[in-house]
Parts: sequence; structure tokens; C-alpha cells
Amino acid sequence: MEYTEQLPKAEQPPRTSTGSDATRAPTERQRPLLEVRGVWKRFGGLVANHDVSLDVPAGRITGLIGPNGSGKTTLFNAIAGHHPIDEGSIRFEGREISRLRTARIARLGIIRTFQQTRVYRGMTCVQNMQISVPQAHETLASMLHRPTAASTERADELLEFTGLYGKRFMPAGELSFGQQKLLEFAMALMSEPRLLLLDEPTAGINPVLINGLVDRLRRANAELGITLFVIEHNMRVIMNLASHIYCMAHGEMLAEGAPEEIRNDPRVIEAYLGGR
Ligand code: ADP
Ligand code: MG
Repeated sequence: MEYTEQLPKAEQPPRTSTGSDATRAPTERQRPLLEVRGVWKRFGGLVANHDVSLDVPAGRITGLIGPNGSGKTTLFNAIAGHHPIDEGSIRFEGREISRLRTARIARLGIIRTFQQTRVYRGMTCVQNMQISVPQAHETLASMLHRPTAASTERADELLEFTGLYGKRFMPAGELSFGQQKLLEFAMALMSEPRLLLLDEPTAGINPVLINGLVDRLRRANAELGITLFVIEHNMRVIMNLASHIYCMAHGEMLAEGAPEEIRNDPRVIEAYLGGR
């Protein structure tokens, strides 16, 4: 099935980064989609992000790991504009976004999901999908607008993509937790993100559904051309999913590398064992 063709083009440049690395233009290969430089975030006396820098290349799946409390979610909040940073720079396609508000950042194509699932339990899957487009617009008026034929069709396609089509008229609250996570993922795709930030997508999901979800994440990347930046606690999942992994500890960037490098990095092993 082809999804990319029918999507409404919001405030986004033409999508050119859907090809493989080999087919991508050299300049595109060089400039990361997202560049985080020297980001600091303090909560009172606590330094949650301590001079954090990283790159998320276009078209790839990048991982972010680290023990609980190491500042991963705080960094996602900064990227998505949920809170201002104290120092540093966050660039998306070369443009500084660290002073922009959430809705503006969403319109540029950065969409995030949360550690805690945020679906409307009393609404059906389809209704949840239809109110998800406004994440990019975020006005009550747009939420009250009747869904367009295009958005209804798109919702159906994405529910099919995530394996929820058969449950589309079921209240989201009646789905299993794992299915709610899949729905949340489908809802995020409604905005046609260029960069999707996923905060522990597999947390709390049973192993059978985890494989299905991981498969969908891969396909969203390979088939829909969406760049993924994934915080993940499940080592098996992130080692299989990401081509490059960053590891944070105590608010700082501890290590980065290919999955094999990270898996065998003594600093990473120590951070995880020391945290227990
Ligand atoms: P992670 O996602 O890696 O588990 P977080 O980014 O959630 O870590 O948290 C990093 C640190 O910042 C923790 O010590 C947490 O308690 C603190 N923190 C996060 N958000 C806030 C906030 N809004 N106010 C105060 N402290 C916070
Ligand atoms: Mg977190």
C-alpha cells in the first residue's frame, strides 16, 4: 500500500529524503535532520540536561538509551518545545527551533509520543485518529471541524497499517495497553511527521505485540520515509531497531555508536549496572 502519495501537505518542504542512503543527495547525507548542540536544562538545582549534543540523520532510526532519570524525556520535551532550554541550540533542517512553541514545531513536522499513552479512552479508534491531525493545528475550532474525506481515508489506511482496522469502531479504552500504544503510533502518523520522537514505545507491552510494533516502526521508516528518534528501555529492541545509539547518564551524553559498540561499551554497562 502507498501512503505517502495521499497525504495532505502541511507546512512542509517537498519530501526528498525517502530514498536509501545511496540515492540521497550528498548535501542531504551530510546535514542531519536534527542537530542538538550544547543543550542545558535545569529544574531548580537539578541539571536534567548537561551540555547535551547529538545528531539525528534524515531517513534513519536513531536510538537514545540511559538509566531512569538520565534526562532522556527532558531532552525530548526540549526538542518538541514542551519547555524552554536554558542554553544551547536545537536545529531542525538547519533552522533553530529551540525558541518555537509546540504547535509550530509540530507544523514543521516533529511529532512526539509519550511514555504514558495519551488516547481518548471514551472515543473510538477512528475518532481518536480524526482528532489527531490538530496536533499540528491545535485550535478548538479545528477539533470541531467535521473530518474530511481525505482524513477519514487516511485514518482507515493507518489503522490498517497498525493492524487496528478491525477495531476501528471500538472505544480506545477497550483496547489492550499494547493496542493503545499502536493506536497512539497511528495517531502520530496522522500528522505526517518528518521526524517522530517515540518515548519508550514498547514499555508495558507484551512480547508478542512488541514484535508487531517494532515491525511497524521499521516500516514507517522504510516505507513512509519517516525519520525516527526512539527512547527505548528494551535493549533487544533498540539494538535491533536503531542504526546509531546515544546513551545518556546523569543528564550527560555518555557514549554513542553503532549498536555493537554501545552494547560492549564499558561505560554503558557500568551506567546500567551502577543504576540498579
Ligand atoms: P528519563 O526520561 O531519562 O528517565 P527524565 O528526563 O524524565 O529522565 O528526568 C531527568 C531528571 O529530571 C529526573 O531527575 C527527573 O526527576 C527530573 N525532572 C524531569 N522533569 C522535571 C520537571 N518538570 N520538574 C522537575 N524535575 C524534573
Ligand atoms: Mg523518560
